[in-house]
Amino acid sequence: MEPVDVIVVGAGLAGLRAAQVLNASGRSVLVLERAAVLGGRLASATVDGYVLDEGFQLVNPAYPELVATGVGPDTDLRRFPAVLRYVDADTARTLTLADPRASWRDALAALGSREVARLDLARFAGLSLRAAIQPVSAIRRRRDESTRAALARYGVSATFVEDVVRPFLRGALLDDDLETSWRYTQLLVRSFVRGRPGTYPTGVAALPAALAARLGDTTIQLGETVTKLDATSVTTTAQTYRARYVIVATDAGSARELVGVAPVRWRAQTTWWLATPRLKDGAVLRLLRGAGRIASALDVSAVAPERARPGRSLVAVAATGDDEDTSEIAVRETVARLYGLAVSDVEFIATSRVPRALVATPAPLSLSRPSRWGDVVLAGDYLQTPSIQGALVSGRRAAETVLRSGA
Ligand SMILES: Cc1cc2nc3c(=O)[nH]c(=O)nc-3n(C[C@H](O)[C@H](O)[C@H](O)COP(=O)(O)OP(=O)(O)OC[C@H]3O[C@@H](n4cnc5c(N)ncnc54)[C@H](O)[C@@H]3O)c2cc1C
Repeated sequence: MEPVDVIVVGAGLAGLRAAQVLNASGRSVLVLERAAVLGGRLASATVDGYVLDEGFQLVNPAYPELVATGVGPDTDLRRFPAVLRYVDADTARTLTLADPRASWRDALAALGSREVARLDLARFAGLSLRAAIQPVSAIRRRRDESTRAALARYGVSATFVEDVVRPFLRGALLDDDLETSWRYTQLLVRSFVRGRPGTYPTGVAALPAALAARLGDTTIQLGETVTKLDATSVTTTAQTYRARYVIVATDAGSARELVGVAPVRWRAQTTWWLATPRLKDGAVLRLLRGAGRIASALDVSAVAPERARPGRSLVAVAATGDDEDTSEIAVRETVARLYGLAVSDVEFIATSRVPRALVATPAPLSLSRPSRWGDVVLAGDYLQTPSIQGALVSGRRAAETVLRSGA
């Protein structure tokens, strides 16, 4: 094969975004991907008439770098309402919190509820609003600390953190202890205030597919594992390729094997997929309190009925960690309780265990780690934030590094 300007190793979001920026700048790009499909951790599959994702993931249309890719109009993102329902596993008591823009009624009801202190609610709402409206540079500049420490410093009571903030954040951060960087949590909360997350009728894999469709004449080679590389050549299980620059856009573990980057700590997620008779109020995210590792339940087919068989709903139940202890019957019982069904109405479809879901991001979190590692250029969410936004930013930055170097 003729040498290309840039070889990108890995066709996850980071690699695809790097390829998109380079292709748009007129560079020839070859993407080499180990898996048989592109998209990396954004994977979906159809099982028995249900569209399941590899783990429970939502896409936030307010991620600035997602907007920058331009794929928004190419995709059919179905968004969920900004309403959260907390359910206590022991007492079955519920508390509904809503963004007033989604439901004034629920927002006012929460203010009158004895389940939550108004002062805490006001303080947390104030922090969220501040995260949403201040410039990102202000969030990046301020001293970083753990999310738990920051909430305490801002006067949010430990009870409110335990009952309201932790159940919400642990599902997004996969962090049961809130040791995650406050800097990252603010960026995440910012995107929740600015945009309503959603899902696609064909699953999350629709996002990398849409990005790949915007890569012009870029060549993507699937099913080729890179075993060795240096600044200008890449050897796969099939052959050796040459380029002027190489971008390693793999996950942190593979980047360590290929070029020796520092080790990371992973956070795991377990998702159970269940089918039920068609649910009425499924689009509201249920957050569980006191239910062990189970963090949330959501009927993804409430906004994307294409993901379930006709007349059925598809519920994703997500837990933090690689949860081997929660039995299938316990998950079915949880879903039955949450939606007022008989256990026999809840059909188990599949479990998805992702031991390497997100890289832990304790404070202090640097958002400006260099993309260069010796002679090669790096991309990957582990260099930014463990999110769709983080992966896309890292890819764009890697491409810019290459372009600045004169490719
Ligand atoms: C269960 C789960 C839930 C999540 N939830 C959310 C969410 O709700 N919102 C959100 O914003 N983010 C979420 N994320 C995070 C988001 O999916 C990731 O941050 C993002 O997809 C990472 O993209 P990446 O390109 O950096 O890495 P990856 O997607 O890991 O891509 C790396 C690619 O490199 C390839 N590769 C590795 N080694 C080699 C090799 N030797 N040769 C060739 N190719 C190789 C891999 O096969 C892979 O395709 C979640 C992730 C998981 C797993």
